[in-house]
Amino acid sequence: MKLNDLLNEGMEFGTCKLETREDGTRVFSDPSSRQEEQNCPFCESGKQTYGDDTYDCEYCKGSGKTMEWVSDSPEMQVSNANGMAIQRDILGLEKPDYGGSIPPEKLPELRKKLFRMVNIDKDRESMHQAPTDQQGKVSVSHQGNVATIRRGARMISPGRSDDQVLSYAQRLLELVDYAIKNNLYVAWA
Ligand SMILES: [Zn+2]
Repeated sequence: MKLNDLLNEGMEFGTCKLETREDGTRVFSDPSSRQEEQNCPFCESGKQTYGDDTYDCEYCKGSGKTMEWVSDSPEMQVSNANGMAIQRDILGLEKPDYGGSIPPEKLPELRKKLFRMVNIDKDRESMHQAPTDQQGKVSVSHQGNVATIRRGARMISPGRSDDQVLSYAQRLLELVDYAIKNNLYVAWA
């Protein structure tokens, strides 16, 4: 896991290998993932300052370097709502979920669909969504001679533009190409 993953809420699409362990458990893994030395994201050369004090960074123990997981495989981060829409309208799944995968043998067909979505405007229309701005309902409740007025929350949805749908399709096409080339699953979580 990369540090960024801790900060992101939402869904990540990527590619991975399905392995069966000796005890029969099936696990997904990223064959290109490895640990690499990187500059510590929390300090400057191992030192942190707090007011006038300078002290050794606790995260990297003052070395200024940390080992982080890195990977060459393409990935795509989206909000949960967009992740669900991608599964429904691009991947064609009837029951979108917070995690799932598509096996290598089904990818050539998906690749054709994505290729059309990238190149034919009309094939992206089902995923467009107009922005909405709805003021919640007002409700009044009476208790004795006191009336309490509650106003529902304002719900704003930024919608989904053609540019956004196009960028999902392009990114997924890269992912599927990479998966086909390396005989991997496309998976999300
Ligand atoms: Zn540090």
